[in-house]
Parts: sequence; C-alpha cells; structure tokens
Amino acid sequence: MGTIKLSREALKHNLDIIAHQVGGKDKIAVVLKDNAYGHGSVLIAQAASRYGVKHAVVRLEREALEIAEYFDGVLILGEIATHVHPKFSYAINSLEEIERYPRGARVELKIDTGMHRNGISPQQLEEAFAKMAEQGLVCIGMMSHFRAADTLSSEWYWQRRTFDALKPKALHLAEQYGWKLRFHISNSAGTFRSCECSDDMVRVGIALYGCLQMDPTLPQPAFKSVLSLWGNRIASRVVKAGQRVGYNGIYEAQNDEVISTYDVGYANGLDRLASNRFSTPEGIALRGRISMDNAAFSSDKEELLIFDNANEYARSVGTIGYEILACLDKDLKREWVH
Ligand SMILES: *Cc1c(COP(=O)(O)O)cnc(C)c1O
Repeated sequence: MGTIKLSREALKHNLDIIAHQVGGKDKIAVVLKDNAYGHGSVLIAQAASRYGVKHAVVRLEREALEIAEYFDGVLILGEIATHVHPKFSYAINSLEEIERYPRGARVELKIDTGMHRNGISPQQLEEAFAKMAEQGLVCIGMMSHFRAADTLSSEWYWQRRTFDALKPKALHLAEQYGWKLRFHISNSAGTFRSCECSDDMVRVGIALYGCLQMDPTLPQPAFKSVLSLWGNRIASRVVKAGQRVGYNGIYEAQNDEVISTYDVGYANGLDRLASNRFSTPEGIALRGRISMDNAAFSSDKEELLIFDNANEYARSVGTIGYEILACLDKDLKREWVH
C-alpha cells in the first residue's frame, strides 16, 4: 500500500504564519475533521499540541475522543452530544436540535450569517438562548462560517458585519444566563482576509495543511504543502510500441516504454478521473486507467512521488485539494519526514 509522508517543517512553517497573522498561538483552533483532511488526525494533533495549539475542531464525537488528550477544548461541528465531556463543545446547528442535548452539555451557537447551510438566523438569537438555558446547557461561544472568504467580492464583508453586529446582544444575553462567550467565524481564507483578528479564535484547516488557494488578487501567504503521496513499485515491464496498458487499453505506447505499477489506486483516494491525464511533480506520466489498487506510470523507480501538492493533483481531475485530501484512504501508511 502507498505511503503518505508528512513534513514537520512545513507544518511548523504554516503554524508560524497563522500564529503571526492572528497575534498568537492561543487563538488557533486546528481543524482535524475527516482524519485531519487525510493527514492522520492523531499525528497532526500531537504535532499541533507540541507547537502550543490549545484548541481543535472535528466533525464527530468519535474523532474528538481520539484527540482529546492533546487539547484544552475540542469543538464538534456535526453531532449532537451523547454524553457530557468537560473538554468538548458542540455546534448548535438548529433551534430544533437543542432539546436533544443532555443537560450540562457545552455548546456554541452557530449563526447563519449568509451561507444558508447550518445555524440559526440572527432573529432567533433570544429564542435560542432561552431554549439552551431551559435545556440546562452551557453556551460557551457564538460562531458562524464564511461562504466565500477566498473570493474577491463583498460577501466576506457583509457576513463579517452581520456577525459583529450580533456580538453585543449575544454578550448581553449570555451575561443574563451567567455564560462567558467566545466568538469565531473565520476559516483559513477568512483568517487571511483582514490583518486584524477581531475574534477570540480562528478555525484553520486547509491553511494548516498548506493548500489554501485564494483569488489571485487577495493576499497569498506562502504556505507549504504538508502531505505527499508515494507509491511503491509492484511490477515493471517494457511495453512495446503499439501495446496498450491497463483496463480498456486506453493508453497506447508510441515507442518501447518502461512502465511500472505502483500500489495505490482509487480505493486509496487516487481519483480515477485522473486516468491517463496526470503527471507527477517530476514529470512522470500516469499511463492508462487507474485501477482499484494500482496505477501505472512511465517509470521504473522503486518509490515514486505521486503528488506533493493536492491542489495540483486536483486540477487534473477538475476538483479541489480539499476533496483529494479528505478522500485519502485511512489505511495508507503515514510517516513524518524532516
Ligand atoms: C471545515 C471547516 C473549517 C475549516 O475550513 P478551511 O477552509 O479548511 O480552513 C472551519 N469551520 C467550519 C465550520 C468547517 O466546517
């Protein structure tokens, strides 16, 4: 099976840029959902914690349990609490779900400032506070999410303004119930849209992993990609001119060519749509269809670098780096390098 190599140096470099941008490590929450975007959540949790990061964000309770020991607090975005854990907080995504939480659970109220995906509308703020109190919950934060912070448009501004305008009212309500709130709205792109960080925390995912892409006219922090995917050679052969390679023979050798198979396929997250139209960063061409557990390349290297920047691989498939990373097989070997 292929190997994922993680660069310690790149991760530290990215964390330095983020910490500098937000004015300290204390404000960083690392987003570790979906196996830390394929990087391996425990590996990234350990490294971020050693760096001094105190907060993490995941989707599921199960993910939170895996990494809880490394952080002071873990925010769970997509599940309702099944038990009360002193380090966990849960995003409240709708008014209706409040009554399904156990008493004593710590929650953060998600406001729909314009993405219209999850969260309560600003008009429901008072009702939400009353419901949380009635349910015996402890609200520790108010949050929202940008829908287009990576794009040069007014969208970032009006969502930012809607969120900021709600803060005084939320603080006032929280005081009535004896709660202390933290505020956070920014993902990676949002974090780099403005040079002042007016919130208590930012939730950074893709920037941490070095694959943030902003509109060319927006700030371009020089992140470094943390993850590279490597294949190990299974078998080599000389394919004669005119012979075809792999399922359906979609690649035909023009000359005699050394072609080897490597031990990663679409079951490991190598998107099959890249078949026959991808070259590695070293310029080595992928030949023929990607199979479930193998892919063929014009190479006889023992160990082959398949990609070291998920955005570049994504481009050959017509998707985004996020999807390539999040779909990397959990069973791939993962190891730190330098
Ligand atoms: C995934 C996610 C993030 C992180 O987004 P990036 O663009 O990877 O920084 C932040 N907040 C929420 C609610 C998310 O779902």
